[in-house]
Amino acid sequence: RRQRFRKPFTGPWRNPGPGGRIPDRGTIVLLPHLARMIRQKNVSILGATGSIGDSTLSVIRQHPDRFRIVSLTCHSSVEKLCELVHEFRPEKVSVHSTSEARHVREAFPELEVFSGKEGLINIAEDPDAQIVVAGIVGSAGLFPTFSAVSSGKNVALANKEPLVMAGRLFIEEASKSGAKILPTDSEHNAIFQVLNGRTQDKIRKLVLTASGGPFRDLPLEQFPHIRLEDALSHPNWEMGNKITIDSATMMNKGLEVIEARWLFDMPVEKIEVVIHRESIIHSMVEFCDGSTLAQLGFPDMRIPISYCLGWPDRLELELPNLDLTKIGSLNFSSVEPTRYPCLELAIDAARMDRSVPAVLNGANEAVVESYLKGHLHFVEIAKLLQDVMSGYQSISQKPDCPSYLRDIQTLEDAVKADQWGREEAQQRMQKRVAA
Ligand code: NAD
Ligand code: MG
Repeated sequence: RRQRFRKPFTGPWRNPGPGGRIPDRGTIVLLPHLARMIRQKNVSILGATGSIGDSTLSVIRQHPDRFRIVSLTCHSSVEKLCELVHEFRPEKVSVHSTSEARHVREAFPELEVFSGKEGLINIAEDPDAQIVVAGIVGSAGLFPTFSAVSSGKNVALANKEPLVMAGRLFIEEASKSGAKILPTDSEHNAIFQVLNGRTQDKIRKLVLTASGGPFRDLPLEQFPHIRLEDALSHPNWEMGNKITIDSATMMNKGLEVIEARWLFDMPVEKIEVVIHRESIIHSMVEFCDGSTLAQLGFPDMRIPISYCLGWPDRLELELPNLDLTKIGSLNFSSVEPTRYPCLELAIDAARMDRSVPAVLNGANEAVVESYLKGHLHFVEIAKLLQDVMSGYQSISQKPDCPSYLRDIQTLEDAVKADQWGREEAQQRMQKRVAA
């Protein structure tokens, strides 16, 4: 299918600055322009056309003097990417295929256009960027996000799956390269804001809040009647499809427990999940003296993203004030395990550590992809994943179990373990169709 593109852009490539003219003559005119350029942080966005990309660009639109977009990537929404190129004038982009890259080059002859996995890595390593926003969905973000970390950037990390697959490698790489991983997922960002440099040894536990998703009140006997569109309507957040399904099963919260384990160097036993239906408290930290500190705000990803972009400063954001008198009450309850079997699976994987989270992540991505295509029923998601994990338990006991299923030493191990989980899930889904 041929994509439609806007006509080539012929105006000035860089933002012309206040007054709409590029200051080209005389020091007096040039100085404010230079000062602004020095103050500006250069930002790359991996996954610019998704929900995290949208929220990031919305923050940057409010702060054109603070941030300059230098590079963007997308998978298949090339038309949307072209609109972003038109608006933000980056220097580089990366798209999925070489044919899409050719079309983008025709539309924007001055733009450097890359494609495929190498293209993503080129953007992640872009020497012009100081901040990389990791907003690709799923394991596809593994290599580019790792490259951004290896290049010593500030990485605003929303894309949690790579950390689930290879958390130890990410943390070790960041300490070698000097990269700062800025937790962007709202719960982790809340903890990041609360900790603000405090020492970890004073923490009694981390409390991750969870909305409970669209089925938190649905009687369990109604679960067999859940439709895809019900699972896709999250009560509090607007997000991409994969994370929305993960939120309905609460696999998302399980992945977040693993994410928190790495980001805050916290044993899994010290990470608790509570249901908080209003999604106003984004997470809490209980300290050794019994004090609990929380971060509150509307469920809007622009808040954690702006904190990461501005860090260590805070940026102004044009958002309504949080008026707790209007909200009235904040509710908390414990998680019912029978309602959310995927959360238990992920917490078990977190406890077992090594290759288990990567296997579960791959299986979950395959099952959710199939569910989004309408090939499965909602209740089958957890059953299939339970089967894959039982299959993993038996292979991991065998003497000929491959090393990548025992531990993750390299990114390639993480990919293979993820792939193993994916293929196991696919085989089980095929058997189910054949039966
Ligand atoms: P999305 O589906 O809306 O966007 C995904 C982006 O990644 C798009 O730009 C898409 O073009 C790109 N992409 C998809 N597949 C790709 C591939 N194979 N190779 C390269 N690029 C690819 O997803 P999202 O909701 O923005 O989520 C992105 C990540 O952030 C996920 O890991 C999610 O868990 C995490 N996250 C999202 C939110 C949110 O509010 N959306 C909140 C917290 C964490
Ligand atoms: Mg989250």
